Amino acid sequence: MDNCVFCGIAAGTIPSKKVYEDDKIVAFHDLNPQAPVHVLFVPKQHICCADKITEDNCDVVAHIFCTIPKVAAELGLTDGYRIVNNCGEHGCQTVKHLHFHLLGGTQLRGSMV
Ligand code: AMP
Ligand code: ZN
Repeated sequence: MDNCVFCGIAAGTIPSKKVYEDDKIVAFHDLNPQAPVHVLFVPKQHICCADKITEDNCDVVAHIFCTIPKVAAELGLTDGYRIVNNCGEHGCQTVKHLHFHLLGGTQLRGSMV
């Protein structure tokens, strides 16, 4: 999608520090890290947010969640981590392309649940 920063990163037209890529997804370091390790997992297909996950596109979400443990191990997150998705206005989503934050590398605080 035009004017979507994560579509640009997926296409390679916008630079990023990638830690994983295959034909369906890409993972890269967040520009503004909130933890020692802060990586974003993004489907290459433009899905605007978690609210638009459907039976037709949910395979890529499962694929992201299968890939996270492998990347987390490569990044040394042996003591756990947090996966976060912000959805829509009330969820404070700022980039309108579905992504999952992987945060770790320290004892995290402030869980909301
Ligand atoms: P969210 O608030 O859940 O939409 O998160 C968007 C995240 O994308 C924020 O943590 C930003 O720091 C990050 N971000 C925005 N632009 C870029 C970029 N070009 N490369 C890497 N991370 C980015
Ligand atoms: Zn996009």
